[in-house]
Amino acid sequence: MSIQVVGVSKIYGEQNALDNVSFEVKPGEIVGFLGPNGAGKSTMMKIITCYLPQSMGVVKVCGFDVTQEEMEVKKRVGYLPEHNPLYLEMYVKEYLGFIAGLHKIKNKKEKVAGIIELVGLQIEQKKKIGALSKGYRQRVGLAQALIHDPEVLILDEPTTGLDPNQIEEIRSLIKKIGRDKTVMMSTHIMQEVEAVCDRVIIINKGKIVANDTSAHIRASNQTLITIKVEFAAPILSSDLMGIKGVLEAKNVSGNLWLLQCKTDVRDQLFKFSLEKNTSVITLQKEEEKLEDVFRNLTN
Ligand code: ADP
Ligand code: MG
Repeated sequence: MSIQVVGVSKIYGEQNALDNVSFEVKPGEIVGFLGPNGAGKSTMMKIITCYLPQSMGVVKVCGFDVTQEEMEVKKRVGYLPEHNPLYLEMYVKEYLGFIAGLHKIKNKKEKVAGIIELVGLQIEQKKKIGALSKGYRQRVGLAQALIHDPEVLILDEPTTGLDPNQIEEIRSLIKKIGRDKTVMMSTHIMQEVEAVCDRVIIINKGKIVANDTSAHIRASNQTLITIKVEFAAPILSSDLMGIKGVLEAKNVSGNLWLLQCKTDVRDQLFKFSLEKNTSVITLQKEEEKLEDVFRNLTN
């Protein structure tokens, strides 16, 4: 087992940030650790990476105990913290060389060059970290986590704060890295888990509420798709209800409608507007709210 967590609790003062948490991650898996802010994701990740002791329970990484065999664990774990503290005044190469030195890596130069290539930092490698975009800083963070070639990668909200293009790039990079490593990444976005992970562990208020493949979790939480659509001209609700997949059509104001649908009908809405001799002014699919998933799981 790459990660074993058995009966772990963490108490901050009087608050139970983690409450009897248990789960396992197998070698080679990419597991999503999903939960709203304050759920306990970062706390769990700090415990796995030896940055914080648990109050109760046992955590093992590649069979080594995080409290008793810290050095063995640290050799095998790469960690990208939530607020990745990078040295902004350092150059990319210099910083990675410095991290390689901390790990006492022998062929430092080749290692740094290899990792720069792996995370796609070639064109930015001569710049100061402070001069990089957030997406490229995150690549430096990933490089830092990977430089000692760990078996297990712990990534705390690796895409938070990035723009949509950067998110896509970092996600595919994680998938690429995940081909030969065990990865556990936290996120508060349901869609992210589906895009990247084999399995998802959902945590809410310090407790695990689900642990399954994302397809299974979605299937058991059949929530409806909400689509917001605005037409250029008035439309009848009965006509909207005639579109296959639309279960409910609510008029918000003017020609703005909120549709509850079984399937994503955005494509049909364009055809529909043409048939009705009008056009679509706004079209928006509302993201499934994590809160809805939790409500379904905890009820
Ligand atoms: P997440 O990463 O899921 O947002 P965290 O693990 O950061 O959640 O936090 C879980 C809970 O523990 C939160 O309610 C948070 O306020 C609390 N917490 C986190 N760190 C500390 C700390 N150092 N001292 C006291 N409470 C903390
Ligand atoms: Mg966090």
